[in-house]
Formats: sequence, C-alpha cells, structure tokens
Amino acid sequence: MTPRFETLAVHAGAESDPLTGAVAPPIHLSTTFRHGPAAERIAGYEYQREGNPTQDRLETALAALEGGEAALAYASGMAAAAGLLETLPAGARVLLPDDCYSGVRYLADEFLPQRGVAAEYVDMSDAAAVEAACAAPVALVWAETPSNPLLKVADLAALARIAHARGALLACDNTFATPVLQRPIGLGADVVMHSATKYFGGHSDVLGGALVFARRDAWFEAARHRRHVTGAVLAPFSAWLLLRGCRSLAARMAMHCANARVLATFLAAHPAVARVHWPGLPSHPGHAVAARQMKDFGAMLSVQLRGGREAALAAAGRLRLFTNATSLGGCESLVEHRASVEGPRPVSPQDLLRISVGLEHPDDLVADWAQALDGLA
Ligand SMILES: *Cc1c(COP(=O)(O)O)cnc(C)c1O
Repeated sequence: MTPRFETLAVHAGAESDPLTGAVAPPIHLSTTFRHGPAAERIAGYEYQREGNPTQDRLETALAALEGGEAALAYASGMAAAAGLLETLPAGARVLLPDDCYSGVRYLADEFLPQRGVAAEYVDMSDAAAVEAACAAPVALVWAETPSNPLLKVADLAALARIAHARGALLACDNTFATPVLQRPIGLGADVVMHSATKYFGGHSDVLGGALVFARRDAWFEAARHRRHVTGAVLAPFSAWLLLRGCRSLAARMAMHCANARVLATFLAAHPAVARVHWPGLPSHPGHAVAARQMKDFGAMLSVQLRGGREAALAAAGRLRLFTNATSLGGCESLVEHRASVEGPRPVSPQDLLRISVGLEHPDDLVADWAQALDGLA
C-alpha cells in the first residue's frame, strides 16, 4: 500500500527513537559526533554542519512529501535558492519568472552576474514566451507558481517539456502551494525549492528552507557539498520545529484554502476592489491550469483597490485581525503593501495589498475587510 499524502505527512521521518522509544522525535543539538582514532564514523555523523540526525529526519519527510529522491534543508528559503543557483557554472543562463519573490530577484540581479551567470525574466504563465526564450542555450528554468505577489500560474508540465527539450533543468519554488496542493516533481520538475519558514513552519516562529531533488544525482551531491562547505545548514531546533509542522500541514492547508475561498469571493464582489488575484476565481487567467495541477488554490491572494495607493494604505491601516507584516503561511492572517517593502526598486502595483489568509473564522476575516473597505468605494 502506498500511503496517501496525509498519512505520509504524519509518518515520514517519524520512527520512534530506537534508544528510548520516544514517539516525538529527539532534538540532537550536538555539533560533533564521536569517531574512531582514524576518523572512522561510528553512527554515520561527524559534524553538525555536514549532517545531523534531526535534519536527516526532516529531509526524509520533505523528500517523501514532494515525491523526490533526496532533500536538503537550509537555514532559510533564500539560502536554499542561493545554494541551488550557485551550483550553476560560469556562462550559464537562467530564466526567472517576471513575477517572483523579491529576494530571488536581488540574488539574480546583484550576485549571479558576479559569478558569470546571466538571469533573464520571462512571463512563466506564457508557455510560448518561455519556449521562445529557450531558443538560446539555457541551463535552468526557475518557476514560481502561484507567484508572488500577483498569483500568476505557470503550467509546470508544459515548462518541464520545454526545458527538457533544450537540455535545461526545471526548478519550482513551491512555497505558496506546498506539496499538499501541488507536487512539481510529479509534473516533471527536477528540483523543488521551499521557504519552509511559511506553511511548513506554519506558526511564524521558525526560519528555514529546502531543496527537494527528483533524483539523488550529481546535481544533488554538488548542492550538498556546497551547503556543507558554505555552512548554510539549518539548526537542529529549527529542523525539529519544521518536522512538527509537517505533521499538521495537510490539515492546516485545507482550512487556509477554505478561508481564502470565502474571503476572495467577498473581495471580488466588493465595489472598492478593482481586482482580486486568486487562482481559485474562474475569472483568474491561470484558473484552468491551476485547477489541473493543484488540489486547491492556496491561501495567498492579492487585491488591487479602485482608490489606488491611498485606499490601499487606508485599508491596511484599518484592518484589525490582519496584522500589517511581511511573510505568510502562519495561523494568523497578515496583510502587506508589497510596494512599500520591496526595497529601492519596488515592482508591485501601488494599489496592491497582499494577503496571507490565516486560520481564524472566515466570517470574522470577512467582517474585518468589510469595515476596512467601508467608504473607500
Ligand atoms: C519567503 C519566500 C522566499 C524566501 O524564503 P526565506 O525563508 O524568507 O529566506 C522565497 N520564495 C517565496 C515564494 C517566499 O514566499
């Protein structure tokens, strides 16, 4: 019997401790592990930066949940993204989404050129545009779907075909969807990246990242070696918290998605709202693809207000249950005027608010937006 996702989420990497029988996993904080006089390994470990038992459990769980052969945990989502992009050789060309997480954009604009890696931006929701961009040699196509903050949807199976036909690899930032809703490796992706800080952690109290590889191959080994040498590893306590987050991930995502549906439907009908970006709305340009490749549509959405920047800032200031804060995926609902936090080169529309829908009662979330938008139409 192949266990279903919810079962894997509870059981992957969750064997009881062989020494004590403890059902909850132990946290091994030791930085060093006893070895023989000629450095013979005794239990398989040597030094925490290279590998440790708590991280191993998390990586086992992550690989199982994404359907990959191997996973690497990192100190943050950005450490994972950098750890992957820095495996590309000088001269490589990488395609990034035109709507993508701002940190990845900074990495591509500031650091990759120093390494002789060229990054170009393409609309990943337009497969024909990606195909055209792949006419020149390309090493890696990086997708993020649904994307941040416009919730654009990329057709992962189509991108995998296009990339592979050109000998390129396909990576997917699966942070917004999580493997509960979308499993990119099953659709042809070669590697999945996560900011585990978000839904895996689920409680806004742990920073972490991950790469899950479709194959335990030379690319995986190169990334693992780089993580060991550069020290971008996850702390054991953080690994333990993320492991704990895995256990309730499916249950939380179901409730996040249900709440998002209620709020998106309310906002889409509100006279003060010009546009709601949520792939679950039939009017969303990526709805059909999302319906095909996702189990549900996620709990991230963004709204553009008719009253422009002023109205967006006014609404954000009036919300009471939605805290003005960056990040996403926690129990508490958050709202953010993205353009204000994107640093010196904001790309998000000034009238846009990004929303992370939490686990409160949906009627309370709707009531909060109703009072915040009152009079702004
Ligand atoms: C937060 C985020 C990241 C970066 O992850 P950190 O854990 O903050 O380093 C990357 N991609 C997406 C989509 C994110 O939301």
